Amino acid sequence: MTRRSHSVKTGFAPSCPFLNNKAMRMSDPSADHSDGRPLAGVELGGTKCICTLATAPGAILDQQTIPTTTPDETLPAILTILGQWQAQWGFSALGLASFGPVDIHPQSATYGHILATPKPGWPDADIAGTLSAPFGVPVAFDTDVNGAAMAEMLWGSGKGLADFAYVTVGTGIGVGLIVHGAPTRGIGHSEVGHIRVPRMAGDDFVSCCPYHADCVEGLASGPALVARLKGRAPRDVPHNDPVWAPIVHALASMAHALVCSTGPLRIAMGGGVLANQPHLLPRINAALLDSLNGYMALPDTKPYIVAPELGAQAGPLGAIALAATALEEARA
Ligand code: ZN
Repeated sequence: MTRRSHSVKTGFAPSCPFLNNKAMRMSDPSADHSDGRPLAGVELGGTKCICTLATAPGAILDQQTIPTTTPDETLPAILTILGQWQAQWGFSALGLASFGPVDIHPQSATYGHILATPKPGWPDADIAGTLSAPFGVPVAFDTDVNGAAMAEMLWGSGKGLADFAYVTVGTGIGVGLIVHGAPTRGIGHSEVGHIRVPRMAGDDFVSCCPYHADCVEGLASGPALVARLKGRAPRDVPHNDPVWAPIVHALASMAHALVCSTGPLRIAMGGGVLANQPHLLPRINAALLDSLNGYMALPDTKPYIVAPELGAQAGPLGAIALAATALEEARA
């Protein structure tokens, strides 16, 4: 492959006004989110749900994890935990960060419901209505990755930024996309993991996405990596193995699309695939610059794509960040 030269502009000085954009919806990181009482959050994942009672990353009062089975089992189990917290501590707001797709439009008849997930039993499950009904506190409901993005903006790698993207590369590829301080809306939440990207030359891998032959999730998610490895364990695969190149190519292509569309000032990229393969992030950064070919100016804070600072707590604290937002909006 011919490597192209770069003339990358780095025009974003620390005093650049873009870096100080006032968020419209994000909570102030320095604000008191406690209201004298803690915040409650639930991250609903495909395999487990993490319930968190906290005011901030360093102030987690309790955290309980339960398996995600069926709505009839899982939602009452969550309600039991929340009810105990409400009785013992009281909580001032509730954040619900769910796997998707979900209906996030408050005016919709199915607001707060899971939509067409392949997960048995969960299509049309009323998450927000069921989990908020007993408590009478402000509630925010969003996707797990939008929540994680807001947590990183409050307390982690996106602090001080109003335009930011959080990417998780695991069972699927989720992107929490924040524009001017608020998660994108429109038809629904972003589904950037399913954008189509050009395949790396010579990559004839059969996409593992049932909907798309060339989407990022189909080419570079955890299941795609497992299929590409054909029985080899990822930890046994050397860094220079050819299997990593199409993964890097697909993720860098997705980052290129993010840069050229909403222009996040930083991208945090984590999840199981990247957390276990730390050599990938520098390669994705280099491939992004190669792909942009000097056309777009990136912030001169390096690197542009970073690991999430909150690590495995980005998701659970995402629900707390949503609760903080709900409380702030209720106060306004
Ligand atoms: Zn897809």
